[in-house]
Amino acid sequence: MGDFAFDRYLTYDEMMQWLSDVEADNPHLVEIETIGVSYEGRDVVAVTLTDREAGGPESKPALYVDGNIHAGEVTASMTCLYLINYLTDARGVDPRVQKILESRTIYIIPRANPDGAEKYLTTPEHLRSSVRPFPEYRRNYDPPGLRAEDIDGDGRVLIMRVRDDECGSWKIDPEDQRLMIERRPDDLEGPFYHLYSEGVIRDEDGKMVGDARLPLEVVETRYGLDLNRNFPAGYRPTADGAGPYPLSEPETRNLVQFISEHPNIGGALAYHTTGGVLFRPHSTIKDEDFSDDDMRMYETIGGWGTEATGYPVVCCYGDIWSGVLDDWCWEHKGIFAFTPELWDLVGRAAPETREDPMQVHKMPAPKRQELERKILRYHDHYLGARGFVDWRSFEHPQLGHVEIGGWDVKECWQNPPRAFLSAECHKNIQFPLMFALALPEVHIDELTVERLGGGECLVSVLVSNRGYLDTCISAQARKQKAVREDVAHLQLPEGTEILTGRKTTEIGFLRGYRGGPDRQPIDSGENDAHRKRVQWTVRLLEPAVGCEVAVLIRSERGGTSRRAAKF
Ligand SMILES: [Zn+2]
Repeated sequence: MGDFAFDRYLTYDEMMQWLSDVEADNPHLVEIETIGVSYEGRDVVAVTLTDREAGGPESKPALYVDGNIHAGEVTASMTCLYLINYLTDARGVDPRVQKILESRTIYIIPRANPDGAEKYLTTPEHLRSSVRPFPEYRRNYDPPGLRAEDIDGDGRVLIMRVRDDECGSWKIDPEDQRLMIERRPDDLEGPFYHLYSEGVIRDEDGKMVGDARLPLEVVETRYGLDLNRNFPAGYRPTADGAGPYPLSEPETRNLVQFISEHPNIGGALAYHTTGGVLFRPHSTIKDEDFSDDDMRMYETIGGWGTEATGYPVVCCYGDIWSGVLDDWCWEHKGIFAFTPELWDLVGRAAPETREDPMQVHKMPAPKRQELERKILRYHDHYLGARGFVDWRSFEHPQLGHVEIGGWDVKECWQNPPRAFLSAECHKNIQFPLMFALALPEVHIDELTVERLGGGECLVSVLVSNRGYLDTCISAQARKQKAVREDVAHLQLPEGTEILTGRKTTEIGFLRGYRGGPDRQPIDSGENDAHRKRVQWTVRLLEPAVGCEVAVLIRSERGGTSRRAAKF
């Protein structure tokens, strides 16, 4: 799909058209399916990428990637599309892509929340995630007060500064007249201001009230849901926007059902914006309660993400959130999962914050102001200076003279300006490529048939895991019994019977090459080995001589491998 340069954010219809073009151009690599519908009835689609000529998608280990569960985080969606584009386009030039398409499956859900993204892209609305009003009573009720609206008709909801020398809590930054800083008790002389979202004051019937007294009552958005608090891991009803109960929303159910129905998934990335950080589990389980082995793997895999993006890995334990998808993937399924927060405006402008991006939220006012000045300077010099709208006078129908301006958050803070989109996507698909290559990969090294006399044969198979990760993926997966042991299945012709061994033999899990030969088996996996031999004795009746015997190795997360021999 060489004609789309990833220089803008696609609406739902544009995205669907783009996807179906990619599918039409790559019928053996790409399949699009509808996995469910959104609250407003849009199809939520999953894209399955693998070379079907080298095996069906379920027969290979898989990486799961989704994006845009939060409405405004449209870079996440575009990065998913970029990954699809890369996997279909770069096969001839990037050997990693060739290997991945042949031996792995990549499942991509590029727009997990299409309603929210559509509202964000096509209206001035800023919303967190779903368009379903929440709490429930907000479906039919808006309290009186200031509602965010685009009142000057420029297609954006910016900031309105309203002068109030008595009670205003903001003043103009003397160092950069465009910025506003908090008023201190020893700031005795105005002008002082209130900062509000651009909007008008309405009563509960939605009618504009005649006059308004400062300070204003501000009406919170009716789009109060946060879909990434609605997953059934550490779910807390008191978390902001968590929804009435876990998986109450179709958008979260779609993802959990999809992952559950694809037991070959061994790794997961849920793309979000913003912050330049790779979040990892768990919000409510301490690191000490992870197995040592899983913690080491989180460090190693996360380290590859950092190497590719410069984004540090941060655990969200004890922070304000819970009920997030990556926690569920790891806790319930034992899948290593991360939440990359794409686009790092703050980290670019102030590299010293990269080490601990979370510190920014806890900064005292003077430090925060200094940081904002820095960001504005960076924006002026390196981002084309289009993300900050200079204050301009506006005659407000209720408040009289006000000024409208400030940060244009959508394509500056929350998402890169379009000129920077393609580079951001490119940087962030390196992590899933590496992650996919690390998945386990079962292989039959040898299959022999030895005649023992008396019409008996010894069928012997040697299997190994040629992948980096173990076939169970994690100790957590074992603990949760989330993954079935690998299985060797003997396929015999008519006229044979098994004397010793079972037709379907569970062989434990196969260890990957990570950690070298000295690595201890992971928790309770004494039975694990890098390579295993399975044998059967089989009695042959005359007609079976010369017929085919085959062994199928089936590993839920390590793929399948089949080999045949002759009696
Ligand atoms: Zn998000």
